[in-house]
Amino acid sequence: MPRVHLLATGGTIASRRTDAGLAATTPAAELLASAGPPPDLDVTVSDVSTVASFALSTADLGALVRELRRCLTDDVAGVVVTHGTDTMEESAYLADLLHDDPRPVVFTGAQRPFDSPAPDGPGNLAAALRVAASPAARDLGVLLCFDGLVFAARGVRKVDTLRSAAFDAPGRGPLLRVTDAAVLPLARPARRDAVPLDLAAELPRVDVVPCYLGADDALLRAAVAAGARGVVLEAFGAGNVPPAIAEAVAGLVADGVPVLVCSRVASGPVAPLYAGGGASLARAGARFAADLSPWQGRLLLGAALAHDPDDPYRVLDAQLGT
Ligand code: ASP
Repeated sequence: MPRVHLLATGGTIASRRTDAGLAATTPAAELLASAGPPPDLDVTVSDVSTVASFALSTADLGALVRELRRCLTDDVAGVVVTHGTDTMEESAYLADLLHDDPRPVVFTGAQRPFDSPAPDGPGNLAAALRVAASPAARDLGVLLCFDGLVFAARGVRKVDTLRSAAFDAPGRGPLLRVTDAAVLPLARPARRDAVPLDLAAELPRVDVVPCYLGADDALLRAAVAAGARGVVLEAFGAGNVPPAIAEAVAGLVADGVPVLVCSRVASGPVAPLYAGGGASLARAGARFAADLSPWQGRLLLGAALAHDPDDPYRVLDAQLGT
């Protein structure tokens, strides 16, 4: 019988009501019991934490990715990670950047708590366990399974605060669909070489600076003053920024602080198009992050700086295809 390992971290799927609000307290063994252990799978379990994902630090994320890689032992078909939905797309993406194995790691969670009268966690977990053991999920990298659909980690985003269909991959779509009877292939992602990152050391600080009408360069400069070794711009549209930010970027890049341009728009790639906007950022040496979200872009830039502090552009260019 194939074996799948379930690694629990907390999140709404593990949460129960308390006087202080929802609190993640349910361990992996109870989550598995609620999902109804699949008769054709041997499922082993362990707990890395019982926390809400909005409280995780970048160091916690590094420890989680190290642990899930440790769980991918020779005798397992795949690993399932239960995780809060708020930052699941970040954890799954960092795990995917390092993933160099044909077997799947499948993240899942819930929008309604463990003690809800109609929880969505058990169904999501049961589906994720089946996906982790499915040949259809091999060679797809790290995955996120939610509400009957499976997305590649790269490009997945939380798109609804409360509905069961919490995730989408705007402009990309799902890779698999899970029904009661089968795991159906829909698409295959373009995979990049894994980044052989040593997660023993914490990723360097990278901050995301938002752009909004009338924004000046104060937040950008504050990020660098706080120790950011790289900056991600959550730019307008296809990669434009207010004039003060465009002017400041040239100085930052010249000072050795890489700048990665992402968009505050959920779908579509960024491109250096407009004078004073994206075209000026490109001339200043900023890199464009295709359709990567600012949050995933932040992890990519952190990984690039950690892997090769002298030339982070090698990892960036390899991952972004530039
Ligand atoms: N809303 C979150 C969840 O779905 C809370 C968290 O991210 O832990 O799990």
